[in-house]
Order: sequence, then structure tokens, then C-alpha cells
Amino acid sequence: MTVCSAFNQPGRFFKGNLHTHSTMSDGRYAPEEVCRRYREAGYDFLTLSDHFLPVYDFPVTDTTAYRSEGFTTLLGAEVHVRATSMGEAWHLLAVGLPRDFLATQPGESGPQLAQRCRDAGAFVGIVHPAWYGLSLEDARSIESAHAVEIYNHTSALKTDRGDSSALYDQLLAEGLRLSAFASDDAHFHFDDAFGAWVMVRADSLQPELLLESLKKGHYYSSQGPLIHDIRIDAGQLHVKCSPARAVMLLGRASKAVSEFGVGMESATLAAEGVAKGGYGRVVVISDDGRRAWSNPIWFA
Ligand SMILES: [Zn+2]
Ligand SMILES: [Zn+2]
Repeated sequence: MTVCSAFNQPGRFFKGNLHTHSTMSDGRYAPEEVCRRYREAGYDFLTLSDHFLPVYDFPVTDTTAYRSEGFTTLLGAEVHVRATSMGEAWHLLAVGLPRDFLATQPGESGPQLAQRCRDAGAFVGIVHPAWYGLSLEDARSIESAHAVEIYNHTSALKTDRGDSSALYDQLLAEGLRLSAFASDDAHFHFDDAFGAWVMVRADSLQPELLLESLKKGHYYSSQGPLIHDIRIDAGQLHVKCSPARAVMLLGRASKAVSEFGVGMESATLAAEGVAKGGYGRVVVISDDGRRAWSNPIWFA
């Protein structure tokens, strides 16, 4: 039996946002206030990922003072160097950076910076590719990435370029074993928070355990729907979820199966065709059109 890895681990799911900004870069609110807002919105953890740029003095924002009972933080940053094939600065997410992470160096490339983040212990994400026109070649060059940001809420609201599933699917089809995460990228200059998050499976709310689960892909992402379980038995995919109008298994190229209805809380799909492509990922769409995305199930 093949099982989607987030759902056969011990522990429970913790809700978090991996990508957010504060006054340590171009966000509206101080770190303490951003943490307070996420904690009060029911999040279990948060990463402040301020822009790691010379103009902000290369911040790895220290949020450890804002941890409390039932709420923790992971330290990180959104790191930048020039230049993508579009001639713009790279945007890469690094969650789990040490506070003394060295400033970017003259001549350092995007792939080199990503590797340095990974070597420092971070979960590395290719963020908002659709927003800034990141090419497939650029994305593929970040060999040290753990994941692609499949949905960025601020990009969706500001530019209608929040969805990067097309580029993500192409990377998967090339054989890259990347997971997918969704985030707010909130700056709080307008109503851009609490639109997308990750649900990370871990034994407890310890930063080290959350980080380990992120690196292993033991999580799913959501704009609202809950995924309670995904498993495959005798070629059948079984999904349990909050009320949904569609449950899909998406695989290589055009391979896909789906079930539609109203208020579906479970679905069973024939997975053999998708499995022949080597992998499939589950998408659940709620009755109001919000999505949840599993990480890929690897069949081969
Ligand atoms: Zn960015
Ligand atoms: Zn950002």
C-alpha cells in the first residue's frame, strides 16, 4: 500500500505560515505585532521571512521572544541575489536559518545562495514563480530546493498570479521530487493575511520537529479545506476531507482522475493510470472554491 507521507506519521497537524514580512524589511507591522496577529488567528506557528537585503541590513528576524504556550516560530528569511533569466533578483525562501547567516556575497548566484541556505539547515522554497515569471530553467537550477510555492496569496490578490501549479507540475514531470507549499507572503499594507497556509504533521510544536517535517514533505497546504486522510489500497485512492465539490489526483502530463459532487467528505478514485506516471498529487476544492493541495505521492 502506498500512502501519502503526511498521513501515516505520528502526531497531529499544526497550522503555520512560512512566508510573511515585518518592519524588519518592507512589512507594515513590527515582528511582535505580526506574531500576535497570527497567534490570535489560530495559527500554531509562523516564520517571519523578511527580505535578506543590504538595504535592510540582512535580517534574520529573531521571533524567539514571541513564542508562547501553543505558538512557536521558525527563524527564516526571503533571500535575494541577482539575477534570474528575466534579469531580476531571485526570491528564495529559507525557513530554519541561523540568526548569524552570512550576508550574500558579490557574484553569488541564486543556486549557490540556495545551497548555502540548505547547508545552514534551512528548508528552501522557490517562491511565487508565477508572480515574477520565473522560467522552468531557472527553477530547475535550484537543485537544493525542497519545495515550490504552489500558491502565494499576496501575488493572487495583487497581480492574479498567485497560482504556480503549472510550473510545479512541469518540474515534477521532469522527475524532480519537490514538495509544494502555500503561503500568505503578507505585508499587511492591505488585507493580504490568512489566505493560505501549511498543515505540518509533527509529534509536537517544537521548531526542530516542524522543520524536519517540512524537509520531508510531511505536510499539506490549504486555503481552507481540511484533508483528513489520503491512502491508496489495491489501486484505489481514498481521500477524507472537509465538504468538497471536487477531489482530484493529478499526475504526469495529462494524467488525472477526479470525482465531483456537493459536500463530499470522502472520495475514492482509481489511481492506476496516474500511478503509471510515477506520482500523483491530490487537490481538494471546497464548495466555495477554495483549495487544498497534498504533496506528491510517489508510486515508483
Ligand atoms: Zn518575494
Ligand atoms: Zn515575500
